Amino acid sequence: MQQKTKRWLTGLMFMFLLAIVFPQVGQAAPQPSLYLDGSSIKTPEPITLKNNFVMVPIRVVSETLGYKVDWEKNTRMVVIYGDNKRIELKIDSKTATINSKEVKLDQPAYISGGSTLVPLRFVGESMGLTVDWDNSSKSVYLFTPDDGSTVEPTPPGTGGTGEGNGTGSETPNASLTKVQDFVFGENTLHISLEKDVEPKISMMTAPDRVIIDLPKTTFSQEFLEKYGMTNGGQGTQLITGYPDVQQVRFAQFEKETVRFVIDASYALDVKTTKNGSGLLSFEVSTKSSGGGTTIPPTKPDGKYTVVLDAGHGAHDSGAVSVKKRTEKDFNLQQTLKIAELMRKDDRFHVVLTREDDTFLELSDRVKIANDLNADLFVSIHGNSADSAAANGTETYWYRPESKAFADVMHKYLLQGTQLKDRGVRQGNLHVIRNTKMPGILLEIGFLSNTSDEAKMFDEQFQQRVAEQVFNGIKAYLGLS
Ligand SMILES: [Zn+2]
Repeated sequence: MQQKTKRWLTGLMFMFLLAIVFPQVGQAAPQPSLYLDGSSIKTPEPITLKNNFVMVPIRVVSETLGYKVDWEKNTRMVVIYGDNKRIELKIDSKTATINSKEVKLDQPAYISGGSTLVPLRFVGESMGLTVDWDNSSKSVYLFTPDDGSTVEPTPPGTGGTGEGNGTGSETPNASLTKVQDFVFGENTLHISLEKDVEPKISMMTAPDRVIIDLPKTTFSQEFLEKYGMTNGGQGTQLITGYPDVQQVRFAQFEKETVRFVIDASYALDVKTTKNGSGLLSFEVSTKSSGGGTTIPPTKPDGKYTVVLDAGHGAHDSGAVSVKKRTEKDFNLQQTLKIAELMRKDDRFHVVLTREDDTFLELSDRVKIANDLNADLFVSIHGNSADSAAANGTETYWYRPESKAFADVMHKYLLQGTQLKDRGVRQGNLHVIRNTKMPGILLEIGFLSNTSDEAKMFDEQFQQRVAEQVFNGIKAYLGLS
């Protein structure tokens, strides 16, 4: 990409971010449109929302990127190939393969007006694109990855460590990089500058806060006006809707350093990303382990209420395994083992949605947890796929406040299952969507895979998984 395009893109991305966080900004007439690296692409079928997922016509995107697209009528399969990649996609199926590796789709691909529509996230995953969706303008933005070769070289003397002042001559203001704006959304602080600088991040406790120093920077005039600051003053923006973060403060901390402070509710981890042309993003998340922060129980008796949900039951057998054993039985065996361990620890109230082979509606499972005002909800399932080759362990979250729990749990769960890591995923699943506390759903392994299945019905495997699920719960809560 050319510099000009890139800079314009930064502006575009920033406006897009503003639009997410401050929806009143930039309300265009909602004409669904698709952009690839800033250029509009004509789509044969309009971009649509299906069950809240953005669906994009895959052929036009693939062909614009230089892939070939074939349609196999007999198997109702779309095959996309080129660039050492082969993507196979079946109509009405939630599974696709990328170079023979199986991936799950949020929504099955479907045909509309002769075009195959697939979930936006799949387009990004399969073709290595960054994807964004602007709900106010109903626009999809796709960005090809930046190979870094066009990044503006850092002039000597800028973007350094920010230390070692006093080299003699005064640096005039004009040589400092201007901070243009900032926005907080999706647990991420985005700061837009004229160009990248090397931020220095430090953590402080009591109270917990994240300090971001931007060396060789100053505020732009527009920034000062927007936030009603005089140069040398400081500003504060309260953050609502993100339990991890209370407010963001900013000031010209030193003559050549702008400082942003994220005032946090507890110790956080920070992940920094630079887009190469002046947009710095700092994503904060709950410290996953060893942070020494304990999440307090909601109940006054000081005990944690954990609801364990064995999936399916009675006439609802769930998946049927390669050996004709049922998922409902596996789920119950596994859940009872976790409960048995946890009930020996008097820091926990352990509640099971079912203790035997009974049937509950999904809404009943949710109601149990919500009525109890439980601290955590964990649903236990076994996975299944059309392909006997699919195998491994997945952890699902849906609401953002559950993601940290899923991240922590998945690490422990993998130690328990010792199966293939299929990742932590966001899934719009009833029980983790409608519960009100951090809630996750574990797909322990694949009952449709001979090797996974044999292990899953093994007593020792279940015991090991139970121990690690319990460890994951304790780690997330900050207990030893
Ligand atoms: Zn299930």
